[in-house]
Amino acid sequence: MTSIAVTGGKGGTGKSLVATSLATLLSKNIDDLVLVDADLEGPNDHVILGIEELENREPITLFLPMIDTTKCTRCGVCVKICDTGALFMAGKAYPIVFPRLCSGCKACYYACPYGAIRGAGHILGYTYVTPVCFGGRCFKLVTGMLIEGEEHTPPGVYRTLQRALELKPELLIVDTGAGTGNAVSMGFRDSDLVIVVTEPTPLGAHDLDSILEVTDAMNKQVWLVVNKYGIGDITILETVLRRHRVEKIFHIPYDKAVVEAYAYSKPLIIHYPSSPASRALMKISDELMGWIKH
Ligand code: SF4
Ligand code: SF4
Repeated sequence: MTSIAVTGGKGGTGKSLVATSLATLLSKNIDDLVLVDADLEGPNDHVILGIEELENREPITLFLPMIDTTKCTRCGVCVKICDTGALFMAGKAYPIVFPRLCSGCKACYYACPYGAIRGAGHILGYTYVTPVCFGGRCFKLVTGMLIEGEEHTPPGVYRTLQRALELKPELLIVDTGAGTGNAVSMGFRDSDLVIVVTEPTPLGAHDLDSILEVTDAMNKQVWLVVNKYGIGDITILETVLRRHRVEKIFHIPYDKAVVEAYAYSKPLIIHYPSSPASRALMKISDELMGWIKH
């Protein structure tokens, strides 16, 4: 299996456009391709692909402690061991659990000397597997989605990636969340290649610097895609790139067809194949195909 991650530091750089377009283009030559939308707080690959309904839903469950008051001696060991503050004892009362703060690590379960903690499944979100076909091009979209208000993104990303791997893909493309936190680096931890998407703006440069710090530290092979090329000042990115390792650089020109594709939920590659942005994406796809073959 070959694994590629598409990431971008800040949101709105066009990361999902690149991921969905590459999945669509590469699926012409690769039979078992899986695209993972690992942006669990705001998955939008299905919207870009024009999919109205996600399919094959499965819950993502997290361990949540339940205190058995018939066994609990109120010793307080569990409260001391919990490093997220999810357990609280008021004086000598039984511990109470704050589900929103619990990471599901099970430390309290193993630490309780009296076997007074049982586990209950807490649903924090869902994964979906949706078949996607455009003409002769077919692939599977695996989407992870947190329930509104849930904050435990890393375990959700982990489960979403697991569900994608269960499909045994020949090529896995992971569209990570925005930012540089754990949930994002988890999305490209096992990738053979990381495609970083940025834009030539001060904010783009700032976030590019942050994400490349992470890819450098993880010793990742990196290709850079400069989206909305033609607006802003490209030299602002060049300053950042002098400090980091990037193997190849591509440019996607600013293109009104992209805005139209977003507005009407029409995949750019399919509905605007001769637009400048589509042509740039096809070039990246061709380069990727060559890289995969080697
Ligand atoms: S460690 Fe076990 S016995 Fe002690 S307070 Fe927690 S649940 Fe109760
Ligand atoms: S599972 Fe972990 S985070 Fe949750 S209450 Fe127990 S120790 Fe705290």
